[in-house]
Amino acid sequence: CGIVGVTGVEQALPCLLHGLQKLEYRGYDSAGVYLMDNAGNDAYIREKGRVAKLAEKAKANGFIGTSGIAHTRWATHGNVTIENAHPQKSADDRFYLVHNGVIENYQELKAEYLPGVHFVSETDTEVAVQLVDKFATEDGLSNVEAFRKMISLLGDNSAYGFLLIDTKEPGTLFAAKKKSPLLVGVSDHGNVVTSDAAAMIDVTKEFIELRDGDIAIIKPGSVAVYDANEEPVDREHFTLEIDP
Ligand code: GLU
Repeated sequence: CGIVGVTGVEQALPCLLHGLQKLEYRGYDSAGVYLMDNAGNDAYIREKGRVAKLAEKAKANGFIGTSGIAHTRWATHGNVTIENAHPQKSADDRFYLVHNGVIENYQELKAEYLPGVHFVSETDTEVAVQLVDKFATEDGLSNVEAFRKMISLLGDNSAYGFLLIDTKEPGTLFAAKKKSPLLVGVSDHGNVVTSDAAAMIDVTKEFIELRDGDIAIIKPGSVAVYDANEEPVDREHFTLEIDP
């Protein structure tokens, strides 16, 4: 239902928890966060119910991180359980993915591309992250190629805002959207991705709105956006005129 991500910030966890709190009004049934730093440390925390419960668990864990992704889920495929909360991850723990929306043909994709892969959730989203992992780890595609290939297989009626992390590429976020809003926020103290600019205005007020079919690669000091034809594009920046 809601997505936030950060990279290159001093403290990822408080930024992300604050962002999730600002997304709460949209409604959700569970929430989760994946955090990492450049030294290879990470934390993966999910909870059913309130963001406050997730925050308690994450603070008790103690890891802060410098990049990460977080999600509030409104279940469409699979019950409200911790296993079905996002981020969803690949079986080898390499990729973590949050997703807003619906993948209409996930059963077909699972049967065709992922026979024998061990699934731990009932979500459509887990199929997406296992596909990225298959294309990258098994078939040797680059992350962007694997992400784009997964997206190209989704049925025409699928909708998504995706935010992906590869644990082998710390500090880089991969974003894509179709029929679900996603914005990239930029600043000189870290870049962000969010489904709702209001969730991240304490970090930055300067945003880029992604268009359907776009893929963005967000690093601490750079943002690259490619359109549906794989061409690099300059999307217009705008500045939000509201107070945090
Ligand atoms: N379809 C996904 C799920 O059920 C994402 C739902 C959402 O947008 O929160 O897990």
